[in-house]
Amino acid sequence: MGRGKFFESVNRYFDRAASFSKVDSGLMDQVRSCNSVYRMRFPVKTDDGGIVVVEAFRAEHSHHRLPTKGGIRFSMEVDLDETIALASLMTYKCALVGVPFGGAKGGVCVDPNAISDGFRERVTRRYTAELIRKNFIGPDVDVPAPDYGTGEREMGWIADTYKNLRLNTGDVYACVTGKPVTMQGIPGRRQATGLGVYYGIRSLLEDEEEMKAMGLHPGTQGKRVIVQGLGNVGYYAAWYLQHEGGAIVTGIAEREGGIFNQEGLDVEAVFAHRKATGSILDFADAQNVTDGMALLERECDVLVPAALENQITGSNAGRIQARIVAEAANGPVDFEGEGILQERGVVMLPDLFLNAGGVTVSYFEWLKNKAGVSFDRMISRHEELVKRELIEEMERLTQTKVPEDRLPRLIHGPREEELVIAALEQSMTTAYEKMQDFRRSRALPDLRTAAFLLAMERVAESYDQHGIFP
Ligand code: NAD
Repeated sequence: MGRGKFFESVNRYFDRAASFSKVDSGLMDQVRSCNSVYRMRFPVKTDDGGIVVVEAFRAEHSHHRLPTKGGIRFSMEVDLDETIALASLMTYKCALVGVPFGGAKGGVCVDPNAISDGFRERVTRRYTAELIRKNFIGPDVDVPAPDYGTGEREMGWIADTYKNLRLNTGDVYACVTGKPVTMQGIPGRRQATGLGVYYGIRSLLEDEEEMKAMGLHPGTQGKRVIVQGLGNVGYYAAWYLQHEGGAIVTGIAEREGGIFNQEGLDVEAVFAHRKATGSILDFADAQNVTDGMALLERECDVLVPAALENQITGSNAGRIQARIVAEAANGPVDFEGEGILQERGVVMLPDLFLNAGGVTVSYFEWLKNKAGVSFDRMISRHEELVKRELIEEMERLTQTKVPEDRLPRLIHGPREEELVIAALEQSMTTAYEKMQDFRRSRALPDLRTAAFLLAMERVAESYDQHGIFP
């Protein structure tokens, strides 16, 4: 798929949304422009002592709020345009869900499936050192996170590299999010994007007005779902859809092909099977679909592309039978594909809303690192004492003892992970309502236009309030 096409699609989505706005065109131009990019090439030692030159990028799309924030992608497909497009989506995503950051993105041209652990660590550390050198990373400057091909391990190496090169800095761990919990990460970040995808899909499926218009029963229970990509985002989205929502995951597509079972697949068992055998194919009780892309065209209620961009385009959109396309990945539907889906009445949940759970919880992690204290420890001792007194008084009045096993929960309050998940749920459901209300109140044609325009106008307002320097 053409990489430039993704950049072009994002720009066309922007322009379409801008056509519904009265904001000054010069100001809109500033909202659209990428503020700074760093393109680098650096040598890395291979395992056998050789040297390869790696190309990498970091784009900071918008400095209207600092720090900027966005994941780091390891992929051979990465290029400058893709990095800028992804960075711009981050700006709009943050504005949409009320995370006070500008957007950024990083890309490193390596194949995440073909490199050794040693090479992976050397690339990650060298890339971090390059970012430090040009002031493209720092708790108040630019804060990376995981994306396609990277995860907790890489974020841990980034934090450690930063800590070693930026001596005597207090809040070093706030330089990156998505770290292991034991390295000042936050419980709940690992599943945050996929769980947010679930909350976003649930919001639409429980929207009675929308469901009525589509002729579907409200609710996630019993909805048939096909997922593309069983990585961080796809796995957790599928898991929560199945376990919390009661949806039936009938198909899962991966790089090597897909599997299908009309009665439903056990997402956890499929994941374990792929881990054990190295392939999703030949899973018990499922039909192999050798061309994973063909699986996207099967009948279902919700199709969840959670791998990469440009998966639904002019060439296959006409054959998609799903009623809803939920963009868990960034940019899985291109501009042309979207037009065809819309003509056919398919409803789309746009990426900048649907996968915003990751950056939302990253924000909580950053706040925790800046404060240097976890959220559950912030709940004061005083509050615990008051609760204990209340319970004792209740017990005295009612002459009933509160069961021993319930006391810790009542007195100590929620664990950090529960706080994080509750706040994520609140953030996704509120964002859905605001996006949907905005679409209705401004008579906009679809949710993507609503999400873009709402975000763009918020960024424009921020630039306007700050004024133009000098
Ligand atoms: P990941 O590397 O954990 O997983 C991606 C999965 O997709 C892998 O299992 C890979 O094998 C699979 N895949 C690759 N090509 C495929 C193909 N052609 N068909 C089917 N499967 C394929 O990456 P991730 O973090 O889950 O990211 C996935 C998408 O979600 C990306 O678009 C990313 O930008 C977006 N996203 C991620 C996060 C996050 O927190 N990780 C946040 C927001 C958005």
